[in-house]
Amino acid sequence: LTILGLESSCDDTAAAIVRVGPDGPEVLSSIVHGQTALHEDFGGVVPEIAARAHAEKLDTSVAAAMTEAGVGFGDLDAVAVTSGPGLIGGVLSGVMCAKGIAAGTGLPLIGVNHLAGHALTPRLTDGVAYPYLMLLVSGGHCQFLIVRGPEDFTRLGGTIDDAPGEAFDKVARLLGLVQPGGPAVEREAANGDAGRFRLPRPLLDRPGCDMSFSGLKTAVLRARDALVAEKGGLTRRDRADLCAGFQAAVVDVLAEKTRRAMALYCQENPAEPVIAVAGGVAANGAIRAELETVAAQFEARFLAPPLKLCTDNAAMIAYAGAELFALGRRDGMDLAARPRWPLDQSRPGMLGGGK
Ligand code: ATP
Ligand code: FE
Repeated sequence: LTILGLESSCDDTAAAIVRVGPDGPEVLSSIVHGQTALHEDFGGVVPEIAARAHAEKLDTSVAAAMTEAGVGFGDLDAVAVTSGPGLIGGVLSGVMCAKGIAAGTGLPLIGVNHLAGHALTPRLTDGVAYPYLMLLVSGGHCQFLIVRGPEDFTRLGGTIDDAPGEAFDKVARLLGLVQPGGPAVEREAANGDAGRFRLPRPLLDRPGCDMSFSGLKTAVLRARDALVAEKGGLTRRDRADLCAGFQAAVVDVLAEKTRRAMALYCQENPAEPVIAVAGGVAANGAIRAELETVAAQFEARFLAPPLKLCTDNAAMIAYAGAELFALGRRDGMDLAARPRWPLDQSRPGMLGGGK
């Protein structure tokens, strides 16, 4: 089974070819065109600019993915495309491109939930068995999922405001560090004293797996402003200590909520318990180390896919498409682009529906 995948739901235009053979899946090519430079001056992704850039780059990305994989349209079995959730202009660009390919070649079309793509990545990279626990932590998302199948997810909880990556980016901006903020804050934190500033651990006093990160960012803002008022500016030391304090708070929140999610997941007695992470924030060494410790406490395997498959890419979409294809899922030319598409409603019968 050889599948072309397309991804254009945020600020990366991506195309990939994945082949699923008797020995498991193989990524034959994975092309990702980031748009960071296009949005740099605006302090965030500009939907209009993103949509136009996707429309311009999709054709060449598909061509590059097919050349690199050494396959032609005749070698493909299906085309899979992110059909939500995301910025609607970008999702539409991808869906239109995929429909064009399907119409021109007669290949089956499969709409894939972007979050399902992230959630299934540990199956692509490590062939883990269902059910496993997934913590999706990126710039736009933060949620715990029990993954039971390509269309079968139970959401245990998630952020009620900002995603952690967004918080890292905002904290970096507050402290005058470069974007993306995650790696910059992590670098500063390595030389900082996490105990100097007492930052909050939001929602730890409440039961359940929901999280909140926007108050934490505001606490960093207040601490910064207090320092500025007191002595006119921040020293390197202040910056490092604030980053260390912030990162430690994020680590504490994620670790405790992961323990709760693990407890719920382990109630189901999975034969080989696995907790996997996906999303760009999974690159953070402190977060990874702490999650590994939590996994060990539950005698579970901890799995973090390689970073290029953790962040937005089309290989995960092609792979998720392959699992759906195997289940018989096919979409028609009426496949809708969905700006919102919660994962735990992605069951057959709900597809193509509204929000
Ligand atoms: P989506 O949420 O749709 O998956 P995204 O582009 O916002 O898309 P990713 O590409 O998965 O998310 O990840 C980018 C985010 O990860 C950024 O917010 C970035 O700051 C964060 N990040 C990257 N490296 C680190 C790190 N070492 N520590 C913390 N955060 C990091
Ligand atoms: Fe994503």
